Amino acid sequence: MENDKCVVLLSGGIDSATALWWALERFKEVHALTFTYGQRHALEVEYARRLAEMAGVAEHRVIDLSILKDIGGSALTDESMDVPEGEYPPRGTISTYVPMRNSLFGVVAGAYMEVKGITDIVLGVHASDVPNYPDTRPEWASALEALLNAGSSLAFDGKRRIKVHTPFVGMRKADIIRLGLKLGVPYEWTWSCYSPKDGWPCGRCPTCVQRAEAFRELGLPDPLLLRLEKEKKEVET
Ligand SMILES: [Zn+2]
Repeated sequence: MENDKCVVLLSGGIDSATALWWALERFKEVHALTFTYGQRHALEVEYARRLAEMAGVAEHRVIDLSILKDIGGSALTDESMDVPEGEYPPRGTISTYVPMRNSLFGVVAGAYMEVKGITDIVLGVHASDVPNYPDTRPEWASALEALLNAGSSLAFDGKRRIKVHTPFVGMRKADIIRLGLKLGVPYEWTWSCYSPKDGWPCGRCPTCVQRAEAFRELGLPDPLLLRLEKEKKEVET
C-alpha cells in the first residue's frame, strides 16, 4: 500500500480502466475523474460511469471542460475535421490530439486532489501513444508532477509530495490488456472508438485498429464486440 488515497483519470478506454484496477490493488480509497470536453460523442463517458460503478470507487466526478471545444483544433472536438482512418502514423502529432487537453486535465485533477487531500494521481499513458500524442510522454508526466508540487498547498503547507503514477509508461496496448486481464478489468465495458455509430465502434479509426491489433496479438476476441453481439442477438430473438 503506497498511500491511502489516489485519484485516477478515467476516460472509459482500455488504458484508464486498467489504471483504475491497478490503483484498486494499491490504494485503500480510489477516486475517479472523467472529463467532458465537447468531444463528438458522449459514449465513452457512459462507459466511464459504468466502470467507476463496477470498481466501487469512493467518488466519481464527471467534470465539464468544454472550453476545449471552443478552442478547437482537434478532430475530436471540431466536426469540420475528419477523424482519420487506419493505423496510427509511425510518428508525429495526429489530428485526434486535443491541444493541451491532458495538461488541463492534470491541473484540474490537481485542484481536486488539493481539496480532497489526495497526493497520488494515476494516469494510463503508455508507449503506444507516445509517437502521436505529445501530452502522454514521460517528460510530460514529470513536468506535470513538478507543476503540481510547485503549485499545490499540499506540498507548500503540508510538505507532502505529490506523485504522478504512470505504471504503463513502457508498455504497449497488448501488454496493458495482458496485465488488466489478471487484475479483472471488465474490458467489455471499455470504449475506444473515435467515431461510434449506433453504439458500435467504427472498426476503422486508429484507436479501433490499435485495439483490434492488441486483442489479435493476445489471441483473444474483443470482449466489447462479444458483448455487443450478444445484446444484439437478444434484441432480435
Ligand atoms: Zn473507431
